[in-house]
Amino acid sequence: MAVPVRQSARIGAYLAIQKLRRRDKFPLIVELEPLFQCNLACAGCGKIQHPEHLLRKRMPVDQAVGAIEECGAPMVSIAGGEPLIHPEIDEIVGQLVSRKKFVYLCTNGLLLERKLHLFKPSPYFAWAVHVDGLRERHDESVCREGVFDKAVAAIRAAKQAGFRVTTNTTFFTQDSPETIRSVLDFLNDELEVDQMMISPAYAYEKAPDQDHFLGVQQTRELFQAAFAGGRRGKWRLNHSPVFLDFLEGKIDLECTPWGIPSYSLFGWQRPCYLMADGYTETYKELLETTDWDSFGRGKDPRCDNCMAHCGYEPTAVMESTRSIKQSVRALLA
Ligand code: SF4
Ligand code: SF4
Repeated sequence: MAVPVRQSARIGAYLAIQKLRRRDKFPLIVELEPLFQCNLACAGCGKIQHPEHLLRKRMPVDQAVGAIEECGAPMVSIAGGEPLIHPEIDEIVGQLVSRKKFVYLCTNGLLLERKLHLFKPSPYFAWAVHVDGLRERHDESVCREGVFDKAVAAIRAAKQAGFRVTTNTTFFTQDSPETIRSVLDFLNDELEVDQMMISPAYAYEKAPDQDHFLGVQQTRELFQAAFAGGRRGKWRLNHSPVFLDFLEGKIDLECTPWGIPSYSLFGWQRPCYLMADGYTETYKELLETTDWDSFGRGKDPRCDNCMAHCGYEPTAVMESTRSIKQSVRALLA
């Protein structure tokens, strides 16, 4: 499926409208978590450490759709847990797509082939399959053998069925410039996925493995070496050039935690997808009652090693719209 020009145009128009309305805070994408349960238990995951009764809970369709409507974001990334475990996930996706929201359904791929028939290809819908590396590296990252092969088979099946397929790759200290290049080359050239997202892992306090999260300097050196020789231009990365400059350490950015808010079974999570400093019932309350200036590197120690896209990609997008040069770079990318 073609690169979504329609999506870029809609997001551009959405940003222009926010500017005209002089809104200084607004959501670009919502991270929607309609359940916390997963069929994997990755060592670097900070999302599944809830008591059993919470892991069994599922968000009702109306609640999920109502939250997205209330905040007005044009894009939704459905995560979890594993969203394909939710018995009404197809209904949630269908209702959001019918409202012309651009939906990314994040999955580890294990249930994708079995549930593919529940979804329809659409310019408003894309799979986002979790692939942390080639076979050995990915299976090590998700702590189970055979998951890489299943994810690859699922990607091929979804592409064959006409879906837009993107991937999501998280890097840890076990990664090297070579492992980054090998997985991105494979996804880009061999599997020919539509777009790829990359991120250094966030150091979740609850993650079982606390020894392999990257620091800021390590992240910069790793991406600088991985992108060397103009490689980054040949990969279909689903990021703005400004965010990729940030990962490489060419520029520094401040976090914009309100740009990609997170809604889960607990409500709107303060301040971002990665940290939970309480919840609000409505998006309005989240915006109005959060002290946004107290988060980010140098302000909160939990942010010190964070270079995750959910905090810095919104900043990069805003930067891109402020300068003609950056807007042209983003368009070309
Ligand atoms: S697949 Fe995702 S949600 Fe499931 S355990 Fe792994 S990181 Fe966590
Ligand atoms: S830097 Fe921003 S995105 Fe990262 S943990 Fe802090 S508030 Fe969240």
